[in-house]
Amino acid sequence: MCSEGRKSWDETQPVEWDSASETSRGPRSEETTREAGAQRTRQGRAQHIASQRASADIMPNLPQGPTMFIGHAAVAFAAKKAAPKTSLGTLMMAAQFIDLLWPVFLLLGLEHVRIDPGNTAVTPLDFYDYPFSHSLLMVVVWGLVFGGVYSAVRRYRAGAIALGLLVISHWVLDFLTHRPDLPLAPGSDIRVGLGLWDSVAATMIVEGLLFAVCVALYVQATKAIDRIGTFALWGLVTFLVVIYFMNILGPPPPDSDLIAYAGNASWLLVIWAYWIDKHRTVREPLLPHSTLP
Ligand SMILES: [Zn+2]
Repeated sequence: MCSEGRKSWDETQPVEWDSASETSRGPRSEETTREAGAQRTRQGRAQHIASQRASADIMPNLPQGPTMFIGHAAVAFAAKKAAPKTSLGTLMMAAQFIDLLWPVFLLLGLEHVRIDPGNTAVTPLDFYDYPFSHSLLMVVVWGLVFGGVYSAVRRYRAGAIALGLLVISHWVLDFLTHRPDLPLAPGSDIRVGLGLWDSVAATMIVEGLLFAVCVALYVQATKAIDRIGTFALWGLVTFLVVIYFMNILGPPPPDSDLIAYAGNASWLLVIWAYWIDKHRTVREPLLPHSTLP
């Protein structure tokens, strides 16, 4: 498996970060020729992005998220309509589930990521090895596990189905945005991705529209039962939008360990969503107020 080979040279030769040229110099390997062409393209893109970012020097050095988390949060909001008795927190956990596993697998050394400015216009990360969290086969397995556990505990069919589909929706959204780096199964060399992230403008239009529509659906399906229900919701929406722009405009993270630690911050969104759900109720036509975790 090619990732095994990469793993060994990754350990011996860590990627160097050259802030002057905004390029990363990966260690040389047998793929040198093919890589060289790709590297030149990436350097071109990196310079373009560097110029975009030069005007954003005031941005704090915030580690960039692994995926279109604003899109994943969006589908969690929308799913409340399909599973009104399931808490928004659990829906958020399912939509981000494989991104919650990913930092754990990185820290355990099971999966790997490398900093590669210009990898796409939107992210400076090269997701070259993440078969257990992000291969299609494993994501379907995680979806079944998540939905199955929920069903066993809560006995709420609509919720279990929505949660399982949310876990899988993550892969579909990643497929749309990532360059072809998503494996079909662990050990498979077939990698897919439509590469929306090659264009910052297209990404912001698609993700922005998706987010706006899904938040609108959530607002339509629920109403605040006190002031916290309003402020907590709009606080989270604002927070997601601000972090989104910081991620796109901010500098790349300094090292991949930090990416793994920062990745765990996604739990904050889950906890925040549970808090929102406690202070909002589903509107009458859908259900009288009663929410399962
Ligand atoms: Zn992901």
